[in-house]
Amino acid sequence: MSVRTSTGHNAASGRHRLASLPSDIRRSNRRAVLRALYPNRWRSRADLAKITGLSKVSVSDVVATLIDDGLLVEGGYKPSSKPGKPALLVGIQVQGMNVIGLDLAQAGTLKGILTDLEGHVLARASIPAPDAKPMPLNPIMDLCKRLQDQSKAPILGLGIASPGTVDTAGRVLAAPNLGWADLSLAQALREGLGLEVCLANDADSAVFGERCFGGGPANMILVQIARGVGAGVLIDDRIVHGSHYVAGEIGHVVIDENGIPCACGKRGCLETTTSVPSLTARIAQAPERREEIITLAGQALGSALSMPVALTNIDDIVVAGPASIATATMLETVQNTINDRVRSRFIEAVRVRPSALGSDAAALGGVAGVLRERLGVF
Ligand SMILES: [Zn+2]
Repeated sequence: MSVRTSTGHNAASGRHRLASLPSDIRRSNRRAVLRALYPNRWRSRADLAKITGLSKVSVSDVVATLIDDGLLVEGGYKPSSKPGKPALLVGIQVQGMNVIGLDLAQAGTLKGILTDLEGHVLARASIPAPDAKPMPLNPIMDLCKRLQDQSKAPILGLGIASPGTVDTAGRVLAAPNLGWADLSLAQALREGLGLEVCLANDADSAVFGERCFGGGPANMILVQIARGVGAGVLIDDRIVHGSHYVAGEIGHVVIDENGIPCACGKRGCLETTTSVPSLTARIAQAPERREEIITLAGQALGSALSMPVALTNIDDIVVAGPASIATATMLETVQNTINDRVRSRFIEAVRVRPSALGSDAAALGGVAGVLRERLGVF
């Protein structure tokens, strides 16, 4: 189910509405009101008019529609020293609608969460990732339906974090690990599930989740150490996609020309020292050298990140990955390596830290994408 349109609802209720407003103005008015209340701010209609610049009549109209849609609720009165009727407050009805976020990039697992409108996780589900290539879509839809069945409220939309190259129109251009190429994933799932669908690359999704729900700053790099190594880059609150949607694909940049041969045909790519499979294999061969192997990987990653840090002046670096790999030693080594190489009279020290959202960052980024797309709140 999707949010009803203002126009359709107006006809049904017969209540006075500004029916002559074009739909794009209605949409932007709705978004302005939601932004003024999100997250968890309670305001009177008069205050909403002041904040949004809309007329009181417009605000009352929008608020009535949003209450009907289950997105806002009335509650409490504004404290007032003046005599007369106190103003009734409205706020977001946090569990009025729910959102589903899926992370398709974790090794061996498809993971899903169901959240309320503020990103609080209400339910989880996961299934083993099918081995078949191209990976079929039915298991993804089954995972969604399991989460949908657990929801006590209508679903606002589905946000997906996919590995590989993803454009801004809902297509996966290439995801070799899943065997996908030129796949209109958002459209296929929209038709299969009857839900609004937002799609993003997993590292982009994770950095957006960290920004929206993890308290991350407007300038940030999030590095995902997974089957490969990729980064999401946020500059001035915008995700950097680049000319061909591959910004942040740092895994096959050569760090050591004399290094280990890589599956891509080159030698010494970042992934040969720092991906989960390469680290796991090397640690298995020499468990007593675990700390040294992780330190070397941290040095390679820190070295790779030094130039982008200097280029962008980003000073908040998130390193996300399995707890056995993204250890304190790894994070400390990345931080020390960047600071040794970059810090100067001009550039301050960077902070390297784990994700505030743990392993939920990418799925929560999917949720945040739905909230941005459908409600305009991020
Ligand atoms: Zn390579």
